[in-house]
Amino acid sequence: MDNATIADRLEAFSSLLELAEANPYTARAYRRAAETIRGTPVPVADLVRNGRVRDLRGIGPGIEGRLRELVETGEIAELAELERELAPDLVGLGRYLGLSARRSVDIARALGVRSAAELREAAAAGRLRMVPGIGPKIEARLVEALAQEPEPRAQRGLLLNRAWELAGAIAAALGGEVAGDVRRWRDSCEWLAVVCAASDARAALARFAELPQIVAIVEQHERRALGVTVEGVPVEIVAAEPERFGTALLRETGSRAYVSALEPVPDAPDEPGVYEALKIPWCPPELREEPFEGEPPALLELDDIRGDLHCHTTWSDGRASVEDMGRAARDRGYEYLAICDHTPAVGAVRGLTPDEVRRQGEEIAAANELLAPFRVLRGIECDILPDGRLDLPDEILAELDWVQASVHGGQRMPRPEMTKRVEEAMRSPYVRCLSHPTGRLINRRPENAVDLERVFEVALETGVALEVNGLPDRLDLSGTHVREALRAGVKIVCSTDTHSIRGLGNMELSVRTARRGWATAADVINTRSLATLAGDR
Ligand SMILES: [Zn+2]
Ligand SMILES: [Zn+2]
Repeated sequence: MDNATIADRLEAFSSLLELAEANPYTARAYRRAAETIRGTPVPVADLVRNGRVRDLRGIGPGIEGRLRELVETGEIAELAELERELAPDLVGLGRYLGLSARRSVDIARALGVRSAAELREAAAAGRLRMVPGIGPKIEARLVEALAQEPEPRAQRGLLLNRAWELAGAIAAALGGEVAGDVRRWRDSCEWLAVVCAASDARAALARFAELPQIVAIVEQHERRALGVTVEGVPVEIVAAEPERFGTALLRETGSRAYVSALEPVPDAPDEPGVYEALKIPWCPPELREEPFEGEPPALLELDDIRGDLHCHTTWSDGRASVEDMGRAARDRGYEYLAICDHTPAVGAVRGLTPDEVRRQGEEIAAANELLAPFRVLRGIECDILPDGRLDLPDEILAELDWVQASVHGGQRMPRPEMTKRVEEAMRSPYVRCLSHPTGRLINRRPENAVDLERVFEVALETGVALEVNGLPDRLDLSGTHVREALRAGVKIVCSTDTHSIRGLGNMELSVRTARRGWATAADVINTRSLATLAGDR
C-alpha cells in the first residue's frame, strides 16, 4: 500500500469523522497525519511494520493503531462502517438543503431511506412531515429546495492544490477539461466542474458516475450531472455537444457575473472560437472574476520566474538539505534560490541563532562551489518581534543576501499596533520582502488586523517587496490584494515558502495568484536576473 493510498484513506476517515460530528480535534489530527504521510519520502507501510511510524510528526498511538489495521487488513473497519452509515450522497444533498450531517442522517433513518434519490421520493410523496421536528413550514422549504436546480457549492471551499488534484483527475479520466473555480485558480474552490465533449452524453455521464472519486450522483439531467465525493464535495460534469464545447467550457468556467455580461454567448467548438465570434480578445481564466472591457494585459508566466526567494531546509523545519534544495531549484531551470530558515522567536519550530546563521553560510558557500553558476543565496525568514524589532542583530542581517521579515506569533494585535509593528520592520535597511503579509490561513485563520494601505505606502517608500506566498493554505497576498498593491506601485515576489523539494512546484500557485491580481512580469522582483536583484533597494 503506497503513501498516497494510505493518506487518502486517513483523509476520508477524517472527513467522515467531521461529518459524524465527532471530536473536531480527532478529525484534524487524522487530516494532519494524512498530510505528513503524503509528504514522507519513505514507504509508510514499512515504518508501520517495523514499529517506526511514530517517529513521523503528529502520529501518536491512536493513529498508529489505525495505520496498522489499514496496512495489515487493507481497510479501517470503522471507516467502512462510517461510509455505510453516513451515505455520502445523502449528506451531500443534506448540505445542499442546509442540513447538518447529523440531521441528514437522522431524517434518513426516520424515513428509512438510504440514498439521495430515495429521500427525494419520500419528499415528493409528502412523507417528510412524518419526521419528528419537521413541521409543514420546514417541509415546504425542503420540498421547494429539492425542486430547484441545485447550485453545486461545497460548504467550505477546497484548497486550490486539492481542488486541482481532484478536478484534474476527473477531467483526465473523462478526456475533458477542468472548469469552475478551479480553472480560475480561486484560492478556495467551491464550484468544481469538468466539461467534456461528447456526442453520446449518456455514456459520458455514466462513465463519470463510475469514477472512483465519485461516490454518488445527486442530480442528473440530459447533459449534466452533479456528483459528490466521499468528502461531500460536489463536482459538476457537463457533457457538451462537440460543436458547443467551447461555449460550455466558457460558461462552466464562470464567474457567473463575467459570463452573464457576455450574453448571448455564441456557440463554438472551442473557447478561442467563442471569443472570436464575440469579437473580443480571449481572456485568461484568472481574470474572469468580474466583467471588464478592453484588452487583458500580458500576464506574468511561470517561465518568467528566475528563482525562488523563500524556502526552508533541515536547519529549521524543512525536510531537505541546502545542497539538495539548491540542486532541485537548479533542475527547475532557476538561476537562484534563497534559503530562508526561521529565527528563534518563531517558537513552534527550530530557529537559527546568529552563530547558526554563520555556520549555515559556510554550508551555502560549499553548495555554491558544487552548483555554480547557479547561486544559493544566504537568506533568512526573520521574525518580527511584537515591538517591531527584528529577531537577529543588524550585523548578522547585513551579511545576508536576502531578508524576509515575517509576523508569526502574536497575530491578534489590534490594528494600530500590528500596523506599526510591520512598518517598523520594513524600515530596517536589510529587509527586502515582507512574507505572507496578512497572515491568513485559508479556512482556518482570518487576516491579521493590519492596515494594508499603510503597508503599501511604506513598501513604496522603502522598496520592500510584498510576498505572494505559494503555500496552498496561505496564498498571501491574495489576488485581490495583489491588484491593490500593484495599483499602489508596489513590487511583489512570487515565492513558495516550501519546506520540501516537491513544494518548489507550488510556484505555479503563487504565479496564478499574482495573475489573478493582474501582475505582469515587470511587477515581480524574481523575474529579474540575480545581478539586477542584488542591486535593488
Ligand atoms: Zn512564515
Ligand atoms: Zn517560511
